[in-house]
Amino acid sequence: MNSFDVVVIGAGAAGLFCAGVAGQLGLKVLVVDHSDKVAEKIRISGGGRCNFTNLGTTAANFLGNNPNFCRSALSRYTPRQFTDLLQRHGVPFHEKHKGQLFCDRSAEDIIALLLAECDAGRITRWQPCSIRNIRYSASSPEGTGAGSYELDSDRGVIRTPSVVIATGGLSIPKIGATDFGYRFARKFGLRMVEPRPALVPLTFDGDAWAPYAQLAGLSLPVHIETGSKKEKMGFLEDLLFTHRGLSGPAVLQISSYWQTGTPIRLNLAPDTDVLQSLTHAKASSRKLIANELASLVPSRLADTWVAQGAALGQNWQRPINEATDKALAVLAERLARWELTPTGTEGYKKAEVTAGGVDTRDLSSQTLESKQPGLYFIGEVVDVTGWLGGYNFQWAWASGHACAQGLAATLSAGRTIA
Ligand SMILES: Cc1cc2nc3c(=O)[nH]c(=O)nc-3n(C[C@H](O)[C@H](O)[C@H](O)COP(=O)(O)OP(=O)(O)OC[C@H]3O[C@@H](n4cnc5c(N)ncnc54)[C@H](O)[C@@H]3O)c2cc1C
Repeated sequence: MNSFDVVVIGAGAAGLFCAGVAGQLGLKVLVVDHSDKVAEKIRISGGGRCNFTNLGTTAANFLGNNPNFCRSALSRYTPRQFTDLLQRHGVPFHEKHKGQLFCDRSAEDIIALLLAECDAGRITRWQPCSIRNIRYSASSPEGTGAGSYELDSDRGVIRTPSVVIATGGLSIPKIGATDFGYRFARKFGLRMVEPRPALVPLTFDGDAWAPYAQLAGLSLPVHIETGSKKEKMGFLEDLLFTHRGLSGPAVLQISSYWQTGTPIRLNLAPDTDVLQSLTHAKASSRKLIANELASLVPSRLADTWVAQGAALGQNWQRPINEATDKALAVLAERLARWELTPTGTEGYKKAEVTAGGVDTRDLSSQTLESKQPGLYFIGEVVDVTGWLGGYNFQWAWASGHACAQGLAATLSAGRTIA
């Protein structure tokens, strides 16, 4: 029988990082992944350059049922610690926007770094290898008093006192996402927060969307918000029109907070007082309203905007000096407070992450160990979801690091059987 101090399931960002740290702390670690490649999500992330952290990371950049849960791990492994690691490996990187750090060359640099860290920790890696079942025995045959696990794998039975589940969420099933982590969390009696696609484009009903579908490809800065009063959440980011709805950073960010059936609100000219500008133009210009509006927002949007006036009982397709003050006020108000209710999302095949997951009430925020002794959950499988901008990888590193530290402390205190 194969015996290890720790078996990490999932060779993605969190699993590889945790394994490397645990190995370097002296533990005998096995990593298994059902895919023949490691870290496919790192490879495709950040447009191939991996936005691997965000310098401004705080707990406020995450959502989950307990927004404070991530605080402990994030404070014990910071973005600076990860950039120090990159510097030790000679990986060049740069800051792009709002604290977001990207590789200069390619996301492959991060994967190479993680594998080098695993090598330094003398990690064993089995790929492709599936785990069919995990059994727990409360009494260890060695009489240490601690329990142990038996894992049925493609390469035989593995025995270990500690299992780390790092199998991620459900997004992008075609590169290997599965519900493995959720299934085994339930099997061991842990609570779950219902998973849902997040950082995902929003879609709109075909007919209602028809007037805007022609804007596909248009991008502009907007303020976007959802929710009401205490629950309100907003972002100032770029919006992208698509054939089926809305995307771009603004929509990906708000999608994580959007509740099915509720509206989103957009200000399509957040830096401009549209009414003041149009009223000023009315006094001296005979141009069409669309032409005046085109000096404030992209001209395709201006054309589409005035064309929808008829459906609202307004004639906006006329010279601005002939428009009433009320008509201009209605137009400006609709541009600054465009409220619309998405039909749905593009789902897991386009979502960057999965919100929800293993309920943090059943996990230690210090070590990520669950209330099931020796069973740990790290990374995206946990109900901790970051904003767009490098936060999800920072959570993968920080939760992996906290878990490795916890494993080392527990196993050096006598739980090892390898
Ligand atoms: C297109 C895209 C771009 C992204 N860009 C960024 C970005 O730039 N910055 C950022 O911070 N975040 C980004 N993310 C999110 C980020 O990739 C994830 O949050 C992060 O990879 C989660 O790490 P993880 O280790 O928890 O899970 P993953 O990286 O998903 O790793 C899970 C691993 O588990 C394995 N696995 C799954 N099921 C099983 C099973 N049954 N048995 C064995 N192994 C299994 C998988 O093969 C995989 O290797 C992006 C996501 C996508 C989809």
